[in-house]
Formats: sequence, structure tokens, C-alpha cells
Amino acid sequence: MTAAAEVRLRERLDAVHAAGRWRMPRVLEGRQAPEQVIDGHRVLAFCSNDYLGLAADPRVTAAARAAMERYGLGAGAAHLVNGHTRAHAELEEDLAAFTGRPRALLFSTGYMANLGVLQALAGRHDVVLEDRLNHASLIDASRLAGCRVRRYRHADAEHAASLLAVTAPGQSSLIVTDGVFSMDGNLAPLPALVDAARRRAAWLMVDDAHGLGVLGEQGGGSCEHFGLSPDEVPILMGTLGKAFGTAGAFVAGSTTLIEGLVQFARTYTYTTAMPAALAAATRVSLDIARREGWRREHLRALIKRLQQGFAQLGLPVPASQTPIQPLLLGSSRLASETAAALFEAGVMVPAIRPPTVPEGTARLRITLSASHSESQVDRLLETLKRVLARTRAA
Ligand SMILES: *Cc1c(COP(=O)(O)O)cnc(C)c1O
Repeated sequence: MTAAAEVRLRERLDAVHAAGRWRMPRVLEGRQAPEQVIDGHRVLAFCSNDYLGLAADPRVTAAARAAMERYGLGAGAAHLVNGHTRAHAELEEDLAAFTGRPRALLFSTGYMANLGVLQALAGRHDVVLEDRLNHASLIDASRLAGCRVRRYRHADAEHAASLLAVTAPGQSSLIVTDGVFSMDGNLAPLPALVDAARRRAAWLMVDDAHGLGVLGEQGGGSCEHFGLSPDEVPILMGTLGKAFGTAGAFVAGSTTLIEGLVQFARTYTYTTAMPAALAAATRVSLDIARREGWRREHLRALIKRLQQGFAQLGLPVPASQTPIQPLLLGSSRLASETAAALFEAGVMVPAIRPPTVPEGTARLRITLSASHSESQVDRLLETLKRVLARTRAA
């Protein structure tokens, strides 16, 4: 006899299937690159977050191999035991220097960094304000922290400030936002949020997973883009698995902030440190990301070309100046069918549907990388034109 719990799980799975929301991983052969073989199909992919094309850079992989000779593979323990190697310490110093902040602290993933920060900083009586479109990990983070959570209208700093007006004395409050919104590619209104946080004596945390490496002359992200100082954005979180092409994450800020995280963030304490080779490789990719400004310039040219192509095809041009260029299609059915037809035609772009995005805003999430060529962007546009003529008519 099957346990009741398993029967219920089966029913939920069937419901997801029936709603056309079934998800599953596809199998990629080999490395991240524009041309790849996935589920046995040769495709031109516009879906990774490897914005600078560093995930398979030979200098980065060579650094990982060299460090593996020295450190082995597994870190063997948590940072606070004996898993924190010289390579980890050096990467933390590099990240602090890169972000212009006194200290930086490594986490194994961005998801864990966000859980750790909010759990460490926001107690039961504290208030956390979240943009409605914040990344799922930030939403989960404030939920798990058990603090009071309020969600403000997307990119509306005044709404955030008005929600804070009712905060009681003795409570601390924290405004949390993505720097670049992951499904839309638009920027948070950081200067206005800095101002709102100041007026209400709140802390401000920016998750710049999609801004770091991509925005700003030196790749310093949303803060560099807006010219904001470390004091104005006291809590900066970044991931290493996107533009920097490796894996893991960090939080940068004051000495007090970092010491607070070391003492109180459970996702820092109770987990094995990332492999030292990963830290060593990230030092190299961070340096490349900072120095090779041509990668950002090339990305800007690709973004412009794609947007011009959208306009020529009569498609809505995304209000995004980042490599995330969503094509809004509205219905989940149209988005899924278009993504499937593109895949058949040799172009891979994921359909993003509710609940990941709000109802009625299903889309194709196109992402560009410095490793794409202009002719590859043209191929995407030509294929889109052909495929949309069919799926929209259906
Ligand atoms: C990807 C992402 C994360 C999670 O980072 P991982 O290192 O992949 O766990 C957190 N926040 C945002 C905005 C992201 O896009």
C-alpha cells in the first residue's frame, strides 16, 4: 500500500502537469558556449547567465587546476573549522577591494548568502521591505528569518518609504532589492531607495547578482552605474556564478556587518566551505572581468542590435539596458509553444511562466553573453521572426 503522503504528492504532480507547468532539466554536453548540444540537439543558446563569457575561460580553468594541485578538491570542513584556506582569504580580500568595501565574506551560493543575511540581521520584531519582483531567494530569506515582511510596489521607493513610516521605535528596518531584476533586466531605482532608507534610518541591501561584472566602467555593478558609495549601499550581495563564471557568492560591507554574519548567519556556519580551487579560479575571473572592458562594450553592442531587431519586427522593445532582454508574450501557452518551436529550429530560449513571473506576463527570457557574435544575434532574430509568424497565428 502506498503511503497517503505519496498519494498526495502524486496528485500535486498531476495537477502541475495538467496546468502545462511541468519543468525538468535538460542535459548539456560539454561547456557553456553559444553553440551547444543539449538533449541531443545542436542549438544556439540565449539562456545562460554567463554574461561575460568566463564560465569556460581557459585562464580560469587553468587557475582551478593549479589550485587543485595545491589544495586538493574538497574543502573538508566549514569556514569556522579548518575549511577556510589561504585561497578563500585572498578572494575575500579581492572582493572587498573590487567592491570598495572594508570586508567581504564568502558563501557557498547566492541563495544561502541571502538566507544568511536576513536571518542574521532581521529578528522577529524587525521589518523587512521587499520589492514585489525580488528574486525568490530574497523572498524566502525574509520568510525564514521570521521577521515582519512587507512587499512594496515594483521599483517604487516612495511606496517603500511610506510603509516604513509606521515602523515603531526600537525596531530596525531593512530595505532589500535586486540591483537588476532577474526576469525583466531593468534596474532598481537605487538612488531613490538610498534616499528612502536614509529618511527612515533603514538599512539597504542590494542583491546585485545580475549587475556585477556587467554594469559600470569597471564592472562594479549597479552601485558603480549610479555612482553610489559604500555608505549609501551598506549591504552588497553578489553571486559568482553569473558574470564571474564560477560559483558561490559573497556579501560585502563594513567590518561590523561581516563580523555579524560570521557570528550569526547559519548558512555561513553550518556548511562546508566551497572548494579552494573555486576561490582561486574566481580571483582570476574577477581580475579578467575588471580589466577586460571590451566584454562589456561588446555586450552593449549586442543589446543594441537585438533591440533594433525587435523594433524592426514590430516586437515590444524591453525597457532593459542589461543582457537580460525579455520578450513579453502574455499567455503561458504562447510562450511555451514559441520556446518549443525555437528549440526545434535550433535556438534555445527559455519560456518563463507564472508563478515565476506575474500572471499574464509569460515571456521568453533572452540573455546575451559577450561570447555571442553579432551574426548569432541576427540568427536569433531571423528564427524568432519565422517562428512567431507560426505560433502567433495558431
Ligand atoms: C541567481 C540569483 C541568486 C542565487 O544565486 P546562486 O549563487 O545561483 O544561488 C540570488 N539572487 C539573484 C537576484 C539571482 O539572480
